[in-house]
Amino acid sequence: MKLISVQYGDFEEIEHLNPNFQKNFLKLKLTLDMLSPKEIYIENFPRLMFTLIEALPNLRYHQCSHGEKRHLKREYDPSHLISPIKIIGDVIDTVHLLEHTILELQCQISEMDVCSGLTCNYWEPENRFDVFVECTEPNIAIFSSNVAIAALKNIIYNTNDFDLPSLSDTVAIAKQIYSRGITDADELAGALQWSKPKVQSEIKRLDRFNFPFQILQPAA
Ligand SMILES: [Zn+2]
Repeated sequence: MKLISVQYGDFEEIEHLNPNFQKNFLKLKLTLDMLSPKEIYIENFPRLMFTLIEALPNLRYHQCSHGEKRHLKREYDPSHLISPIKIIGDVIDTVHLLEHTILELQCQISEMDVCSGLTCNYWEPENRFDVFVECTEPNIAIFSSNVAIAALKNIIYNTNDFDLPSLSDTVAIAKQIYSRGITDADELAGALQWSKPKVQSEIKRLDRFNFPFQILQPAA
C-alpha cells in the first residue's frame, strides 16, 4: 500500500458519486498503489476489518453508499453483520476500509460531526486507487491518512512501525492539540492524565506522521 500522490481541491467530477458530499467542504484526493498480490488483501480482509472495528468501534456506525446499486440482487451482505461498510470481495475492500478509517480518525481529531468519502479504482493499472475524503483542514486529513495507512499496514503485514493499541492515544493527543488548542506538554499531561514522558513520546509519534503542529482550530 503506497501513497503516490496527494491533492486538495473540489473535484467536481466525482461529486455526483456520493450524494452525501457537502458543497462547503473541499476534498483530499489520495492516489494509492496496492503493491502486494491481490490474494494478500483478500485473505487478510476479515482480520483487518475485525481488528480495525475493535480499535475504532465507531466504524460500526458509519454510513456507506459504496457499491449499493451494484449489489441490489445479492441475497445478503455479510458486512451488515458487523458493520455497514460494504464488501465487494476484492482489493478495493481494503482501500475502502482505509477511506473509512481516515474519515473516522479525522472526525475524532477535528470533532467534525460528519464527513464523507469515496474510493475509486483505475482500469489501468488495476492496482491503483483514488480515495477522496472531505475535509476542513487538509493537513489534518493528511495526518489522519498517514496514521490510517500505518495502522492498516501494521495489521496486514504485522509490521512493528505502528503499535495499534496506541491508536486511541494518538487520536486523544491530536484532538487535545488541534481541537482544544493545548500545546504545552504539562497541560497536555494534565488534560490526558498521562505522565510527561508519555506525552513526549506521543508527540514524537505525531511528528512522525506529519501532524500539523502549527495549525490550531480557530476558537469558536
Ligand atoms: Zn463506504
